[in-house]
Amino acid sequence: MGLKLFNTLSRSVQEFVPLDPAGRTVGLYACGPTVYDFAHIGNWRTFVFGDLVRRYLDFKGYAVRQVMNITDVDDKIIQRVRETGQPLREFTARYEKAFFDDLEALNCRRPHQTPRATEHIADIIALIERLQARGLAYATPEGSVYFSIEKYRGGGARYGRLVKLNFEAMRVGERVRSDEYEKEAVADFALWKARTPEDGQVFWPSPWGEGRPGWHIECSAMSMKLLGPSFDLHLGGEDLMFPHHEDEIAQSEGAALQPPGRPFVKYWLHGAHLLVEGRKMSKSLGNFFTLRDLLARGFTGREIRHLLLTAHYRETFNFTLEGLQAARAALARIDECLLKLRAAAGAAPAAGEAPLVEAFTQALDDDLNISGAWGAVFEWVRDTNRKLAENALDAPAAAAALAAWNRVDSVLGVGAPPEVDVPAEITQLVEARQAARQAKDFKRADALREELKARGWTIEDTPRGARAKRL
Ligand code: AMP
Ligand code: ZN
Repeated sequence: MGLKLFNTLSRSVQEFVPLDPAGRTVGLYACGPTVYDFAHIGNWRTFVFGDLVRRYLDFKGYAVRQVMNITDVDDKIIQRVRETGQPLREFTARYEKAFFDDLEALNCRRPHQTPRATEHIADIIALIERLQARGLAYATPEGSVYFSIEKYRGGGARYGRLVKLNFEAMRVGERVRSDEYEKEAVADFALWKARTPEDGQVFWPSPWGEGRPGWHIECSAMSMKLLGPSFDLHLGGEDLMFPHHEDEIAQSEGAALQPPGRPFVKYWLHGAHLLVEGRKMSKSLGNFFTLRDLLARGFTGREIRHLLLTAHYRETFNFTLEGLQAARAALARIDECLLKLRAAAGAAPAAGEAPLVEAFTQALDDDLNISGAWGAVFEWVRDTNRKLAENALDAPAAAAALAAWNRVDSVLGVGAPPEVDVPAEITQLVEARQAARQAKDFKRADALREELKARGWTIEDTPRGARAKRL
């Protein structure tokens, strides 16, 4: 069975068929962070969703190229640069680095390219010039450039592909300069913003005078430059459908660089939002968490990743600290099972069937049904534990089970090698206790067991010898 995904363009679940006639290469663009602050846990839900899509396409054998832009100039950044008095690059560099550190902490694969908007100003200007030449963009006397929705629609194109819009309320030629605006504000949007005194030193020369690009044109210019004018998948949080993605379609298809009959993007995927304790996250409510806040509370990247990956991407997800505790317990069950499997497998070559991968694939093929995928994982854990308890898994079968897990975890990305978690001095104490028992020095063996206990470890006897386990 092939992969099916919900395409916002058609508002339906569709079979995924890459544009590549050979069906092999896949272009994936995910809108990246605006680097004006640390990304919050809601942002991370969307970025981890992007990583799930990327990893699953890798798993399915596609040759994926993933591009994620870094928005390093926009209204919010300029405001913060003004407040802090720092140069633009110095200000954004700090948050860009934090973003990549967090990406790693959550075990997300790094996108193949992460272009910065400020390094593609020439491409952005060229795209705006093309839109102007095609009669879809116009300059204002102060040196800004706007996209004309009326001209675009007049040429037969549809504006309002991802969301329903009310054109009755639109006054022709009305303009919005802001990067973010409501649906009610259907109006010509800024491609290039003329320099104002508030912009400080943040400006570039252009055919229309000094200024800076709008946010939407940035993604059109960089995605088409790096993935071609027509590519497979474009992804972001649901709040980006309008105006950001709608405007990206208008700009990119308005520029008409695509081969005849080909869209700018074939499949648009949108992730639902994350709430905290049932409410929209906000600093004033005290329910605002960055990844760092959670790491500082002692949770690990894999626990947070697991929790962010528990709900289907199109369902609003309610994040709680209790949820993180549950994620910890769930991972402990997996770790426990893996440790026993490793002990049972030893160095044996894998042999035998492992139904886990098939059940897992079936679930994720169905519009990334992640609960089904976790269901398959935990059923496998139960089944494996039972077989291990009954001594019904020989070494090659245990090795096959481990190989199946590794395959599945190439997508989930939550597996930690538990053995390396055992500190060397603990391993030494376990070995010393084994030696004492063999020498029938039970007093010393008991003393060593007590010492381990004092350090928070216990000893578990397995068919392949004793091993340390956290209390
Ligand atoms: P930004 O840096 O604000 O452009 O946001 C980066 C990504 O996070 C975008 O794809 C947004 O749609 C997404 N996002 C913002 N807030 C949330 C939230 N509460 N839950 C899930 N995703 C979000
Ligand atoms: Zn974007």
